[in-house]
Amino acid sequence: MLKNCAECGNVFAEEGDLCLSCLALMQGDFQKIREFSFANPNASLQQIAAGTGASEPRIILYLRQGKLRVVSQGKVVCARCGTEVLRGPYCRSCELDIKEGRPLNKKTLPPRRN
Ligand SMILES: [Zn+2]
Ligand SMILES: [Zn+2]
Repeated sequence: MLKNCAECGNVFAEEGDLCLSCLALMQGDFQKIREFSFANPNASLQQIAAGTGASEPRIILYLRQGKLRVVSQGKVVCARCGTEVLRGPYCRSCELDIKEGRPLNKKTLPPRRN
């Protein structure tokens, strides 16, 4: 079955969320992100992105895949889009998306709150 890569949008046929080229890139990033989150256990998604140079959607992908946990000041983040939620695993809009089978669209992510 053909799918769109969650990172670059290219069509690919392998298992998982990503095409092979993004997968290779991510494995390098993942090491950095994991080391950073070990060294900074309270870092938020934004701080990890700034500290590692990885994009937030990429870090969110790790969250979705259960490879990484990001806890922001004791708050839980949505395992799908990274929005802060009171309890997990998903925020209300992602819960709706999942129920209705809608894919996660980066362009519809809520704007970042500072
Ligand atoms: Zn890709
Ligand atoms: Zn969400």
